[in-house]
Amino acid sequence: MVAVLKPGVTQQQIDNLTAWFKSKGLDVHISVGQYHTILGLIGDTSKIDIELLEGLDMIESVKRITEPFKSANRKFHPDDTCVEIADGIRIGGGHFQLIAGPCSVESPEQILGIAESVKASGASILRGGAFKPRTSPYDFQGLRAEGIELLLEAKKRTGMPIITEIMNQNHLPLFEEVDIIQVGARNMQNFELLKELGMTRKPILLKRGLANTLKELLMSAEYIMAGGNNKVILCERGIRTFETYTRNTLDLSAIPMLRELTHLPIVIDPSHATGIARLVKPMALAAAAAGADGIMIEVHNDPQSALCDGAQSLTPDQFRDVAEKVRKIREVVAQ
Ligand code: PEP
Ligand code: MN
Repeated sequence: MVAVLKPGVTQQQIDNLTAWFKSKGLDVHISVGQYHTILGLIGDTSKIDIELLEGLDMIESVKRITEPFKSANRKFHPDDTCVEIADGIRIGGGHFQLIAGPCSVESPEQILGIAESVKASGASILRGGAFKPRTSPYDFQGLRAEGIELLLEAKKRTGMPIITEIMNQNHLPLFEEVDIIQVGARNMQNFELLKELGMTRKPILLKRGLANTLKELLMSAEYIMAGGNNKVILCERGIRTFETYTRNTLDLSAIPMLRELTHLPIVIDPSHATGIARLVKPMALAAAAAGADGIMIEVHNDPQSALCDGAQSLTPDQFRDVAEKVRKIREVVAQ
């Protein structure tokens, strides 16, 4: 980190500031120019509040040289992270997984039927919401604990690992046998929840917030990793822009950008990104072509009567077609 001081700062001010940086464990390299003095800060600056520095009268500007995320940073961990989900099912570092299932678990027949069909089409992980974050309190809120029970039953019957969303850290005991805990877009910056998940050793799929930058996504991953849980999977699910034809705007450039910045696996969710079933296939194929480590797709046996997100849900037949084409795209990209 480099801090440029305003012209006219006194030696006493420089000494005080230098002493403060040293008290934070940093070495300070002082370079005195004709008009400006520049302080080069050497060491772990991730805990320095850049806005606080910028607000000081004596400081003209501050620039970070190293990103504020450490554990998630590829600079300090050049190899891709591969997260083990279950026996023989890994994601990242060349391992790709298709995640599929309904937006919400609705009944035993619904979740089991969908699980069997998406498994037959090549999905390796079953998704299903039990605790649903809905914009309206009057909409279906999910089957909650019972939804998790039904997912566990589907897991037992099909052998598929399961992913489901957590909304409150007090619910963690219910997630003991859940294979991947999802943090939804709305909770990406629920820092208390992230800290609790950092204390677990479960794989966490962290979705990008509706209006969050990639740096903020990585800082949220850092919250989980700071607790010692390195099994973080990032998920781009579309961000809010001025466009209204689609539910969100799928930021596919997030894949190569995140690939440079971090070693963590990257999943794309084309269902929430577009909100429209017929757009899911082209976006899933584009995600596979751009190098995603996984794709998560909402599938419903009867989208028209789905209790949540029917408009973006594929039928099992449509999913089979997408899964097959994703496989082909991946073969081409691997050549
Ligand atoms: C979901 O996956 O069902 C969901 C609610 O996603 P998001 O948090 O991306 O809206
Ligand atoms: Mn949904």
